[in-house]
Amino acid sequence: MKAIRVHEFGGSDQLRYEDAPAPKPQADEALVKLEAAGLNFIDIYHRTGAYPLQKPFIPGLEGAGVIQSVGQNVTEFAPGDRVAWTMGPNSYAEEVAVATRLLVKIPDSVGTQTAAAVMLQGLTAHFLAHSTFPLQPGHTALIHAAAGGVGLLLVQMAKKAGAWVVGTVSTEEKAKLARNAGADEVILYTQADFEEEIKRLTNGQGVHVVYDSVGKTTFDKSLNCLRPRGYMVLFGQASGAVAPIDPQILNQKGSLFLTRPTSAPYLATREELLWRANDVFGWLEAGELNVRVDTTFPLAEAKAAHDYMEGRNTKGKVLLIP
Ligand code: NDP
Repeated sequence: MKAIRVHEFGGSDQLRYEDAPAPKPQADEALVKLEAAGLNFIDIYHRTGAYPLQKPFIPGLEGAGVIQSVGQNVTEFAPGDRVAWTMGPNSYAEEVAVATRLLVKIPDSVGTQTAAAVMLQGLTAHFLAHSTFPLQPGHTALIHAAAGGVGLLLVQMAKKAGAWVVGTVSTEEKAKLARNAGADEVILYTQADFEEEIKRLTNGQGVHVVYDSVGKTTFDKSLNCLRPRGYMVLFGQASGAVAPIDPQILNQKGSLFLTRPTSAPYLATREELLWRANDVFGWLEAGELNVRVDTTFPLAEAKAAHDYMEGRNTKGKVLLIP
């Protein structure tokens, strides 16, 4: 089969489209023929070695497709089932063997590509809004990169939970998308000082929670946007890693909380995975959540897709089509 493989950490030219051994499903796995693989920022961290994996590897943690065969222990799934997954490796490929504990069946009314678009970023937005800091009416939230893949979904979920939401984005085009997703206010953080804007918009009080996936360039000011006992949710580092901090900063700035969440502990059990996936699919079916597929690239053009994402262009989801 054809797949994208990384033999050395580095730039996007390390993404090689080449022949790879066809996967064979183990006892608790299903062999899936992919209709789409999702592109996520973590794929860039893997490619560059910021989050190192053993080489060579096939990147990609998300996809959707049709089951071709199942291992001997599998009873919950059968050939022909349309399934999607997040946090399963080797997704930039024509076929992948996925552990069935990671699979969810795609409802009839949800397209396979739509499912691929919503698993990793949608379930992330779900745990951020409902578990990391469970948003409620009356809460105020600042969401950075609000027109990105996670951003557009998180804005919608935060609004659905009743929060007042401010998003930051880099361009007018992205500002429009964030507003359409429901953001009450949008700050162009490339032009205005978002800390000053948050103070102005909250009458100096600050927000209850900051969801910060940008990292290096936003972290310090994000702490200053919080009200006393506010929650700093650092969940990514699109602009680079945050420097080590002295915990005393958290007391000086008002007994703040700091967390650095990642998916695995929030998808630790089958029940938790299905709870979040059923919510997300249910909201899609009910028209209460919109996933914006920004663009698709053929799998062979994964390099162009990475360049697009690293170049700060994503306005929703990017898919790779085998
Ligand atoms: P996005 O589509 O949001 O793309 C990243 C966005 O970050 C850009 O579009 C850009 O928005 C913003 N950005 C700011 N500075 C930079 C920079 N220097 N270089 C590139 N982008 C920059 O990607 P995803 O939705 O896939 O991921 C968003 C973030 O969430 C990532 O940091 C990712 O690692 C994290 N994440 C964390 C998870 C977890 O479990 N902890 C799970 C999923 C995602 P703008 O132009 O508006 O500034």
